[in-house]
Amino acid sequence: MQLYELGVREIAEGIREKKFSALEVFDECLHRTLACEGKMSALITTTADAGRAHARRVDEQIAKGGALGLLAGVPVILKDNICTHGIRTTAGSRILGRWAPPYSATVWELLSSAGAVLLGKSNMDEFAMGNTCGTSAFGPTANPWDVSRVPGGSSGGSAASVAAGYVPFALGSDTGGSIRQPASYCGIYGLKPTYGLVSRYGLIAYGSSLDQIGPFARSVEDMDLLMHVLARHDPKDSTSVDKSEIDFTRREKSRQPEKPLKGKRVALVKEFRDFTLDPPIADAMKRLIRIFEETGADIVEVSLPTVARYAVACYYAIAASEAHTNLARFDGVRYGYTVTTASDLKDMFEEVRSKGFGAEVKSRIIAGTCLTEPVRSEEYYVAATRVRTLIAEEFRKAFENVDCILQPVTPSLPAKIGEADEDAMKGYESDLYTLPVNMAGLPGFSFCTGYSQSGLPVGLQLVGPRWSDKNLLDMGFELEKILGTPKIAQRGN
Ligand code: GLN
Repeated sequence: MQLYELGVREIAEGIREKKFSALEVFDECLHRTLACEGKMSALITTTADAGRAHARRVDEQIAKGGALGLLAGVPVILKDNICTHGIRTTAGSRILGRWAPPYSATVWELLSSAGAVLLGKSNMDEFAMGNTCGTSAFGPTANPWDVSRVPGGSSGGSAASVAAGYVPFALGSDTGGSIRQPASYCGIYGLKPTYGLVSRYGLIAYGSSLDQIGPFARSVEDMDLLMHVLARHDPKDSTSVDKSEIDFTRREKSRQPEKPLKGKRVALVKEFRDFTLDPPIADAMKRLIRIFEETGADIVEVSLPTVARYAVACYYAIAASEAHTNLARFDGVRYGYTVTTASDLKDMFEEVRSKGFGAEVKSRIIAGTCLTEPVRSEEYYVAATRVRTLIAEEFRKAFENVDCILQPVTPSLPAKIGEADEDAMKGYESDLYTLPVNMAGLPGFSFCTGYSQSGLPVGLQLVGPRWSDKNLLDMGFELEKILGTPKIAQRGN
C-alpha cells in the first residue's frame, strides 16, 4: 500500500505514531498529483513549497513531542473559491486570476489549526456556476475514471483529486449540487451539510442563501472526522448555527448487527418515479432498496409535487438573482483583473466585466438583473422565493414520518468533455435531484454504490431533515460495510 492510498485517519495516526513523517506523506501525494495532473488538470494552483514547509513544521513538532492537531500532517486540497491568505484564489475566473486574498476562510483556519497541510487549490466552474468544470477560465478537468469524461461540477477538481488519490480529502462548495454531483461522478463520498452547520466566511459567494461548504473523502469514518473539525459555530458568519451537541465522532453500536437499520424509515419520492434514469442508476436504486430492506429499514413513499415541478425553475431564478448582486463587487477597482485603457469609470466597468467574466457567468448576471428589476421582481424573484417556502414546507412534512429520502444524484452518468456544455437547459434540468436540497437548507450525502459495465462510478444520495447530517453518515457507515469503501481511480496515471 502506498502512502497516497491511505485515508485521513490512517495518515494522521501513522504520523502520530511515527510510522512515517508528514513530509514523506506530502511528497508522496505531491508525486502522485504531478504524475496524474498532465491528464487530469484538477488543480489551478499547487502549493508544493508552502506545503512542504508546513509538513516539516509538523514533523518538528512531533520530534519535540508537542501537542498535535487531529489532522496533523494530512494533505488537503481546497476548491478555489475558498479564500486562503496570501495564496491565489480565483473562483475559476479570469477576473480573479491573480487575486491573493488578505484573509482566510474559517474552514481553512479550522483545518490548518488542526494540522492539515495544503497541497493545492482545485479547478471549478467559474464562480461555481455549472456542473461539469467546463465553465472554468482555466480549462476543463478530466474524470479520473475516464479522462474523456467530465468529473462533474462545480467542485469537479476537488472530487477528481480525491478520487485519483492526490489527497485523502478535499473541500468543495454546494449551491445546487456542486459537492454531491462531482462526488457521484468520481465515485467518492461528498456531504452537503445542513445550511448553517459549516461557516461560509471566506467562501466567494455565488447564491448566499444556498451555498454551503462540505467535505469529500473515501471513507465514512473520514467524513465523520472532517465534520467534527468543520462543524463549528462562527461569529463571522451570521447564518452559522451552534450545533456543538452533535458529536460526529461517536457512533452507537447497532444492537442488532444483522439488521442494523431496523426501525429506520427510508422514503422514495413518488413523483420521481416518472422521470427517466440511465439504466445503471435505475439499477443502483433497485439494489439499494433491496439492501435497505435486508438491513431492516422500512421503505416508504413521500410525495413532493412542488419540488418535482417547480424546483429547477425557482432555483435558477433565485441563484441568478443572488449571483448578480454578489458579483457586482467585481468591478476592476476593488478586486483582481483591471484595465488601464478605459476612458472613464463606466467604460472601465464594462471592459473589465466583459473580459473578466465567461459566458455562463454573464448569462446568469443578466438573468439575475432582469429578474430583480423593480417592474418584474414581484412576478419572478419574489414568486420564486414564495415557492421556495412551499418546497421547504413540503420537505418538512415529508420528514415528519421518515428518517431520510433515497434518491439519485443525477439522471445520467458523466458526459464526454465538451458535449456536456452544449445544451445548457439540459444541464440545468439535470440538477433536479440536487438543488431542492439547497432550497430547503437540508443535508445531502452522496455515496458510491458501485460501477457501471463501462467502469464509471454510480452514485446515489440520502437526504435528511435539517441537522440530520450525522444520521445520514451513520446510515452511510452501514451501507459502506455492504458496498465497500470507494476505490482510487487508477486511470489518471
Ligand atoms: N449546477 C448548479 C448551478 O450551476 C449548481 C452549482 C453549485 O452547486 N455551485 O447553479
